[in-house]
Amino acid sequence: MPSTWKKGMFRPLSLCLMWLSFFSGIIPISSARQETNKPRPTKSTPASQGKQARTRKPSGRNAAVARNGQIAKIVMEIDPRNIENTIRKLVSFGTRNTLSEQNNPNRGIGAARDWLYGEFMKAAQSSGGRMTVEKQTFEQPKTARVPQPTMLTNIVATLKGTQPESSNRVYVVSGHYDSMCTSPTDAKCDAPGANDDASGTAAVLEMARVMAKYSFDATIIFMTVPGEEQGLLGATHFAEEAKKSNMDIEAMFTNDIIGSSLGGNGVRDPHTVRVFSEGVPSNETTQEATTRRSVGGENDSASRQLARFIKETSEHYVPSMKVWMIYRRDRYSRGGDHQPFLERGYAAVRFTEPNENYHHQHQNVRIENGIQYGDLPQFDDFNYIANVARVNAAALAALASAPAWPKNVVLPTALSDDTEIRWDANKEPDLAGYEIVWRDTTEAVWTHSRAVGNVNTYTMKGMSKDNYFFGVRAIDKEGNRSPASYPRPLARTRPGATPAATPAPE
Ligand SMILES: [Zn+2]
Repeated sequence: MPSTWKKGMFRPLSLCLMWLSFFSGIIPISSARQETNKPRPTKSTPASQGKQARTRKPSGRNAAVARNGQIAKIVMEIDPRNIENTIRKLVSFGTRNTLSEQNNPNRGIGAARDWLYGEFMKAAQSSGGRMTVEKQTFEQPKTARVPQPTMLTNIVATLKGTQPESSNRVYVVSGHYDSMCTSPTDAKCDAPGANDDASGTAAVLEMARVMAKYSFDATIIFMTVPGEEQGLLGATHFAEEAKKSNMDIEAMFTNDIIGSSLGGNGVRDPHTVRVFSEGVPSNETTQEATTRRSVGGENDSASRQLARFIKETSEHYVPSMKVWMIYRRDRYSRGGDHQPFLERGYAAVRFTEPNENYHHQHQNVRIENGIQYGDLPQFDDFNYIANVARVNAAALAALASAPAWPKNVVLPTALSDDTEIRWDANKEPDLAGYEIVWRDTTEAVWTHSRAVGNVNTYTMKGMSKDNYFFGVRAIDKEGNRSPASYPRPLARTRPGATPAATPAPE
């Protein structure tokens, strides 16, 4: 069963404190972590495995990310001063609780909404008409955290892709502009939300400002949404409308709590951002689960391929930053705006600072026993937020410059010492061809790749699908690569054989 957001998922103070004491015994993450992104040579196989052990295995380290000058420029142009100004402006509205005032120009969520709309409109001016900005307004019916029907407004800035074959392909980057104090339904209290989530909102706005003047093959949507603290409401509305209109969203990023490099555990780590990706898809059907149990792939959802792509690409363009992939949908038992996208079958990940401070989240602003509580701008690290925005921007620009993920990638399940992989032809006119990527089943990231030309089927000689995971990525003539598509099984065709598993729809 796909899990869904439940009320009470955002914990009150008492639970936060419990977590704090739970986490207080851990070793600082930066020293405990032993992550490797280095490709390693193919190991020799023990001789006891017989004939196959003597088969010479194809080698080839994972190809390096091609240098794209436009992406390097975008990364350089992201400015922490703009991010700081945005955050201070959003905080100046006192509260951005979704239930707060809609028509006061100085206080409440309406003031934040209108200011953000104006800023995205300004950003659009440098796009030569390619960026359009929309207020996507809807009436949210009563829910657990919405005591009466309330108007919510997503601010949606769309930078249209310039390649006709790719302009319907969409990448979404989002942050939530609502905030809360201790009570999610208190519309009056001060709720500065400088980190949660003015930081994500400011990063999205800065990306829109910088990227609007550049062109990309595919379309990028820069979005800020309300209602996150009320139950992911703005993001859910957008995702549902997208699904209804068959919008081809190939990736969604939510930036939520990317504001501080200093955790409540005392660890300062300005060089790491966590990227959360789910393993088993939230929308997996019972049939797909049966297939998965038969062929594996719990670690190879589209969201996880996206996280791997972000790590590989963004660490190349922003070498001072480490993308720390967390192999779970979100933080333990918590949720975010990527979930409604996941539940509708879209690949999506969450960006969050490496160590949170629960004194600064969902707290009334106050001093108690000498401790300052509240989500105040003094706890933000604007240079850090700019670096997280750079990580986002590099990945987004790379995605929107590259071909689409290869579609309908399949592995015939026939018994064989070799592995045949098939996929549909991409439609981009600047397509150069494809690469097969592979890794040991216990590796976290793709370690090897091979360029196979502009073909739609390829056989990896001497490599059994039992022993490796494979993927396919598309490359254009400038070397821009798509994320890897993970194949699904194509039922066995050997005469008289029982199919091992029914292929699952993609
Ligand atoms: Zn948040």
